[in-house]
Amino acid sequence: MKNIPFNKPYLHGRELVYIADAVASGKISGDGIFTKKCHDFFEEKYKFQKVLMTTSCTDALEMSAILLDICVGDEVIVPSYTFVSTANAFALRGAKIIFADSCADNPNIDPSGLVALITEKTKAIVVVHYAGVACNMSEIMRIAGAYNVPVVEDAAQAIDSYFNNTPLGGIGSLGTFSFHETKNVVSGEGGLLILNDDRFNDRAEIVREKGTNRSSFFRGEVNKYGWVDIGSSFLPSDIISAYLYAQLEVIKAIQSKRIRVWNSYFSAFSGELEKRGFALPNIPEYATNNAHMFYVVCPSLEQRTRLLEYLKAKGIGAVFHYQSLHKSPYFSAQYSGGDLINCDRYSDCLIRLPLFYEMSDSEVDYICNEVVRGVSFLE
Ligand SMILES: *Cc1c(COP(=O)(O)O)cnc(C)c1O
Repeated sequence: MKNIPFNKPYLHGRELVYIADAVASGKISGDGIFTKKCHDFFEEKYKFQKVLMTTSCTDALEMSAILLDICVGDEVIVPSYTFVSTANAFALRGAKIIFADSCADNPNIDPSGLVALITEKTKAIVVVHYAGVACNMSEIMRIAGAYNVPVVEDAAQAIDSYFNNTPLGGIGSLGTFSFHETKNVVSGEGGLLILNDDRFNDRAEIVREKGTNRSSFFRGEVNKYGWVDIGSSFLPSDIISAYLYAQLEVIKAIQSKRIRVWNSYFSAFSGELEKRGFALPNIPEYATNNAHMFYVVCPSLEQRTRLLEYLKAKGIGAVFHYQSLHKSPYFSAQYSGGDLINCDRYSDCLIRLPLFYEMSDSEVDYICNEVVRGVSFLE
């Protein structure tokens, strides 16, 4: 029987060579030669003003909360349909999380509901580019600008994806990427903080270096370093950056393979699934598709459960995704907002199909056929 996992982290081969180089360099802590190469890659390819490698996207989000001086009594608007870290990073600073609903036609935050959530306590709006597909950033930036609230882009899934011609992560005040093994480009664990406002540059280095000015000491700008602010240990070992750099060198091949698999799914399902009430991903005209994920929205929870069981029996590692954070065990008792119906629908009805670099054409064909067959059995 087939056994196709949901994900398989890509290994190009070069990663091991670069890790050996990092070790041979005699400096395997943070900010070594490969950290610098990764920084240069992102600043050159995407024209980001300044970036900092972090140990994870979660850590980049926690740094964002510190840089924005989020504290007890502040409110931060976050979509409910997202990974825990998007909200938790701000809850850790004592903020009250105000959950927003998703759009009806895609899981991104619905800008039309934003104004009603903004109060004078709102200190940040955090958006998530779900599946690597851009949120409506012109609407979001217009509203945030009108109320003078900074925007943080959780672009964990959105490497190499764009809003019109601007790379995601480069639009809000701060942006974050993840290189967790489930993402397009990986280093096991790992992340990136993108600073789009130069007033954060100096402090971000300090926050990332345990609240010390060690970065400027190593550049020879001060003759000793010490404790100058709050911070934590947010910088990754150069071994992590060595792994990542090998993947960044082949990002074009990774992206084009993923897009090819995504397009095969889309053409096999459009028409076939839609006529049975299943929704396929919607890529708005302002967004690009980085093929981070292929998902299908089933008509009901019951149909999703049955389809997942069918696919599991066929050896296909399809999985559901986020559960609404406003209903989570940690948060539900504190939640005082209204129903978030679109978010709940994605929690109940969305399934994700296997999508990774090493999938063979015959595996993709098999999954396409089995999904169409499985759906036809549901009626
Ligand atoms: C993966 C992911 C994260 C967490 O990334 P880590 O690097 O594992 O901390 C946060 N937000 C979103 C939307 C993600 O997909």
